[in-house]
Amino acid sequence: MMKSKNISFTFSEYESLEEIDPCDRELVLSARKAAENAYAPYSHFKVGAAVRLESGVVVSGSNVENAAFPSGICAERNALANASSNHPGDKPVALAIMAATSSGLTEDTVSPCGNCRQVIAEEEIRNGNKIRVILGSRKKIRIIESAGDLLPLQFNRNDLELTLH
Ligand SMILES: [Zn+2]
Repeated sequence: MMKSKNISFTFSEYESLEEIDPCDRELVLSARKAAENAYAPYSHFKVGAAVRLESGVVVSGSNVENAAFPSGICAERNALANASSNHPGDKPVALAIMAATSSGLTEDTVSPCGNCRQVIAEEEIRNGNKIRVILGSRKKIRIIESAGDLLPLQFNRNDLELTLH
């Protein structure tokens, strides 16, 4: 028999950086700094991401575009790859994202693209912990308690039915 089901999630929204936890604020500021280092000559859309690891270490990344467009990579995946490569075993617990156009920081928050959602979700599954996603902007801050909330009914390693180590 057909059943109608619903998936929803709750997130927090703040009007200023002053309202959020100091650790989250620091992460947003790291993401903002990382956005300045973006290489975005084609889109002029500069994104910075900062990942806080369980140990407290913060690792950042920015988007790096390429003349062969699909060869470019997003800030979120750069930051997570940086964390995984240089701090193996130190689990990401939070990820902040900030973006800027030629007129400065975006007014509204910018969310991770589908590719990045998939990668952030894998980090959660791989490490068995939630990753808080903190979206910063000029006018508001949004905090999502688990990256998995951004990818409902996700495909993940459990679907492969393999024993991975
Ligand atoms: Zn992305």
